[in-house]
Amino acid sequence: MNTVQRNAKGAATKLHTMPGDKGMFFVLGIDAATWTVITPNLNELRNFKRLIDIGKSKTITLKEKPISASVWCGMFSGKLLEEHKHESYVVNGEIVKREDIKVDFIWDVLEREGKKVKALNVPFVVPPYSFNVDFKPVGFGLPTNEKEWNEELERVTEETKFLMDEKPDVLIAVYTCLDRIQHFHWGEDYVVEWYKRMDDKIGELIFDSGFLECDNKLIVISDHGFCSFGDAKVQTLPEYTKEGKLKGDHHEDAFLVTVNVDYEIERPQDVFFAIKEDFY
Ligand SMILES: [Zn+2]
Repeated sequence: MNTVQRNAKGAATKLHTMPGDKGMFFVLGIDAATWTVITPNLNELRNFKRLIDIGKSKTITLKEKPISASVWCGMFSGKLLEEHKHESYVVNGEIVKREDIKVDFIWDVLEREGKKVKALNVPFVVPPYSFNVDFKPVGFGLPTNEKEWNEELERVTEETKFLMDEKPDVLIAVYTCLDRIQHFHWGEDYVVEWYKRMDDKIGELIFDSGFLECDNKLIVISDHGFCSFGDAKVQTLPEYTKEGKLKGDHHEDAFLVTVNVDYEIERPQDVFFAIKEDFY
């Protein structure tokens, strides 16, 4: 059993891991994280670099459309679009809810097996879905300006740290802000600034916490990559929105790094099977 004690300042201090103890399986989702920004900026993205150095990294080229709702849904249900049939946040003018999607997610499956699973801010629906966590998403899950992007980055980070200290068997947490930032600012240095902020948070969650010093498993993954608006094969939003003209859109090449995960992840659905296999 990993034990955590809070010191006087409230910071978690890891004490020890008993032999034979099973670690935590942590999936950190970063909506729209893309190699085309990460690779050329690795000198400044210190924690992405550390992750890539110690883990296995690859590009996942989606065979399905790079639609966030559908890809996140498939990632945590193990099902293809033809099976889960959930492609859009809104259908016939109605917001699609969790209950409308007729699948079991990994948290449903494992909870029935008596495992402790926490999921935070998973954007297969809007507002993003949380499981066993009381969390109110920022900006209805569609943060639109710098204030909301900062707020999401901070609040998801703080809640994730809190949940890590509770030592669930599986923890899933997702940041959505990079997707929004890239839609509005693709091609600007501003995007790289945000990857640096994300990099700092990865440092706090993965490295400062000592997470990888124990027998823990990690997947850091995006649902799709990004490209300039005109280069996208699938247009996911109208070019002109009430927040302004869009500069970027989704690309089919998604980001993946794993640490201590043997299961070969070739497509988003494999994340479900990688976690499931770990418990059977
Ligand atoms: Zn997305």
